[in-house]
Amino acid sequence: MILENITLDTPYLDLDEEFFRLSDPDPLDKPYLISFNPEAGKLINLDITACDNKNFIELLNGTFMLKGSRPFAMCYAGYQFGNYNPWMGDGRALNLGKTLGWNLQLKGSGETLYSRSADGRAAIRSSIREYLMSEAMFHLAIPTTRALGIIGSKTKILRNRMENAAILMRLSTSWVRFGTFEYFYYRKQYTKLEALAEYVIKESYPHLQDDKDRFFKMFCQILERTAQLIAKWQGIGFNHGVMNTDNMSIEGLTIDYGPYAMLDDFNYNFICNSSDRIGRYSYGEQPNISYWNLTKLSEAFSPLVDKKKMKDKLDDYGAFIYPNAYVEVMREKLGLFVKEEDDADLVEELVVSLHEAYVDHTLFFRTLSHYDGDRAPLYDIAMNPVVVDNWLKLYDERLEKENCSQEQRQEKMLETNPKYILKNHMLQKAIEKAEEGDFSMVETLLYIAAHPYDELPEYEHYSQDTPEEHKNIGLSCSS
Ligand code: AMP
Ligand code: MG
Repeated sequence: MILENITLDTPYLDLDEEFFRLSDPDPLDKPYLISFNPEAGKLINLDITACDNKNFIELLNGTFMLKGSRPFAMCYAGYQFGNYNPWMGDGRALNLGKTLGWNLQLKGSGETLYSRSADGRAAIRSSIREYLMSEAMFHLAIPTTRALGIIGSKTKILRNRMENAAILMRLSTSWVRFGTFEYFYYRKQYTKLEALAEYVIKESYPHLQDDKDRFFKMFCQILERTAQLIAKWQGIGFNHGVMNTDNMSIEGLTIDYGPYAMLDDFNYNFICNSSDRIGRYSYGEQPNISYWNLTKLSEAFSPLVDKKKMKDKLDDYGAFIYPNAYVEVMREKLGLFVKEEDDADLVEELVVSLHEAYVDHTLFFRTLSHYDGDRAPLYDIAMNPVVVDNWLKLYDERLEKENCSQEQRQEKMLETNPKYILKNHMLQKAIEKAEEGDFSMVETLLYIAAHPYDELPEYEHYSQDTPEEHKNIGLSCSS
């Protein structure tokens, strides 16, 4: 389908007018295409290759409106680094409407009612980071928003230095956040809170629509999905960096990519966000913070659902829902088909060993996926092979309880443990080139992002250990 034939609807606008503010995009100066993503185009039945660049650029720049489009910013609140902020919302994003289950959103399209003192813009750097990483996460089977394309421009914005502004088009099955519920809860607007809950059920949990206990069941599903999400982040070595409640999706998606990072050498305490001095959102803290955020969500749900029931469910989250989800993810990474009681201990030993081994997280699991009893390849990649050796003894014993062949195990592991992930130093290189007008590396990384498990001989160098000077570097929030 071509752009002219797509029609959007805007069910969110049926809510009370406090939920949003209609607002027009403020186009960028001299926009040009940086990249488009045909895979995401397919989601909305758009054949991007058939649509001319000019139209696509205009769509992202807000100068071409799809049929039915009514741009609006959504309100929300949120706990930022533990402190409640009652007034946030889409400060630089505009929702255009929805088609085929996907809500289209422009990010960087100018000021809205919720911009506070900021400029409503997004830099090329952060837009490329979100664009590429959301695609990588999708192909790693991690729930996420998607992205259709990016435009750059001559419009200047001030960050740490003057930068050029960009607009990213994002797609999500839901843009509702924990913080959207908090907005109405703390204002004691319980009728609106209930209307929001009904909206979310219709949009995201439609099978619960006729259930008398639907709000509680929705809470349980949000909690289960959050457990799955965080377990997958931990498994792949993803550090989000800003797990404020406004960045927590009501559908358990990865949203709002900021100073995130994939682990280089495994470091449990790694902090990707350089503004996070105490490591509130460090890699290792993510499961605890998810629990904290869910506790805050339960408070926001309290006018709708019995508190004790939610408290019991939260206790289950900490006691077994999250831990089980995590062990399940790790069993897959380790190629274990059989479930054993003490697998959690094996995983815990592994985490401690990896932390002490100074070994690249991704490379370790990929090398382990080829393991046939010869430990040398694993020794070669670790600075401290002794701890790896100790853990492999446990792993060898555990493998004896498996029924499958070595080949079957390796096959499964090679489909679970990626060869290619997007590391910050790779993204940084692509951004530097893009800022000089060369978008070829953005395309290369988009390709790699879509083929994480394949052998790609021409891109072998992207599967190597991170160069020492680029290891575990934190980024700031400013974008
Ligand atoms: P984030 O850290 O990107 O999730 O953003 C936190 C809040 O700040 C959200 O309400 C954003 O809409 C808002 N925000 C971030 N950057 C800007 C900007 N440049 N202009 C307006 N609002 C912004
Ligand atoms: Mg955000």
